[in-house]
Amino acid sequence: MFKKEKFAGQKACVLGFGRSGRAIAELLYAHGFDVLISEQAVFPNADSVHLSKGIEVELGGHTDKVFECGFWVKSPGVLPFSPVLAAGKKRKIPVFSELETALSFMPKGIRIFAVTGTNGKTTTTTLLGEVLKEDALNRGNGRSVYVCGNIGNPVSKIASSVKPGDDLVIEVSSYQLEDSTYFRPNYACILNVTPDHLDHHQGMKNYIKAKGKILKNQRENDVLVVNGADAVCAELVEKAKSEVLAFSTHPKHLLKTDVFFDGDELIFSKGQQIRPPQLKGIHNVENAMAASLMALTAGVPADTVQDVFNRFQPMEHRIEPFAYHRGIVYVNDSKATNLDSTITALKSFDKGSNLWLILGGRDKGASYEVLIPYLKDYCKRVLTIGESMDKIERELKGYPVTRCGTLEKAVETAMNGASRGETVLLSPACSSFDQFKDYEERGRVFKRLVDAHIFKDRTDKKK
Ligand code: ADP
Repeated sequence: MFKKEKFAGQKACVLGFGRSGRAIAELLYAHGFDVLISEQAVFPNADSVHLSKGIEVELGGHTDKVFECGFWVKSPGVLPFSPVLAAGKKRKIPVFSELETALSFMPKGIRIFAVTGTNGKTTTTTLLGEVLKEDALNRGNGRSVYVCGNIGNPVSKIASSVKPGDDLVIEVSSYQLEDSTYFRPNYACILNVTPDHLDHHQGMKNYIKAKGKILKNQRENDVLVVNGADAVCAELVEKAKSEVLAFSTHPKHLLKTDVFFDGDELIFSKGQQIRPPQLKGIHNVENAMAASLMALTAGVPADTVQDVFNRFQPMEHRIEPFAYHRGIVYVNDSKATNLDSTITALKSFDKGSNLWLILGGRDKGASYEVLIPYLKDYCKRVLTIGESMDKIERELKGYPVTRCGTLEKAVETAMNGASRGETVLLSPACSSFDQFKDYEERGRVFKRLVDAHIFKDRTDKKK
């Protein structure tokens, strides 16, 4: 366990110059530590990144300076099997995770809500955060609610502001969990576990092990919310000491459930009834079930949950319809960075929808063959982009695929080929890092390209 008193006077080395790495470096520096940030990769725009002057930075490789530090803090993105970690282990350098180091700077008496899962984390974390904020407002008790973690707001960044009685709603990725040793959320949630990040974890076994760490340190008075129809969740809860609550929208589930959906409302075993938010897809009903089970057990009245759900809007890059032109709908699901989320997106449409699906980017190790039955039911044509094009084309053999290479070409092909009543969907099943900074940039570029084509089409028509 990281204790700042124990390491006082020693230099900290933060591995990783990403958002979380920089945030924990600042936190340690503010608490009087000398800090070195050491980064394997080259950061072309490093100069434009704001950082306290006293923090030392080395980019483009780790030097021996890292071994002169008394302890290391690992950013979640650093590969668990990277040589630098092996070298540190050999020298018995203590290594802590960014999440747990940040939490060690917080006062006692806060409630921790943690959400993990392969898909749905951000939606569920946001829903729960909104509900808890509304509850705090209604109670007028000065409680602050911090929505943080993998959602783009590192826990290290908010650590200094947190006071006793506050709530943390943390989106936790498998990367953050794999490094945890004593993380103990009072309310934890596992939404689903399907193959993802197999490259980082080197296989499904380690990925499941990482997800399981969310419940490892929970005790009897803690709460664990899981997907009752998910086989991995059903296996993981066997080890839980906490109170387990399950949700499912499937008629067949493996665990006894505490909420079901009657097609209109969520019906809870304790009697409450709540209408889910107006979001596309049954997966969002599941996200709403998970968020409300956590909120209700934390003492939030059902009416408060309902008020928030009533006004909740679709989130950007998540099955987001953003344009309609010549009878064709354009949908941005750039956040679909794995196969399961793409399947979820397809299933949120009606069968026979004739989708023009843009697939591809940086491959994550799983086989695209699982898409074939869904493509047959929902899609007219697949348009491939990015590094994974060859693999996708090989694995979808026999299915109509047009090789496009870039998003620009894919948009052009779809807009020239699609007919009235059809939908163009970007749901790439891959990460974006081969051609874009992140999934958000990919989504924004997609929307800009479509909008530009529509604009051109409209002005050409006027001429
Ligand atoms: P995450 O933060 O885990 O990536 P998001 O809430 O950002 O999840 O949703 C990303 C995509 O994952 C969505 O666009 C949708 O395609 C899919 N998705 C969301 N919720 C679920 C769910 N509960 N089950 C399966 N897929 C989901």
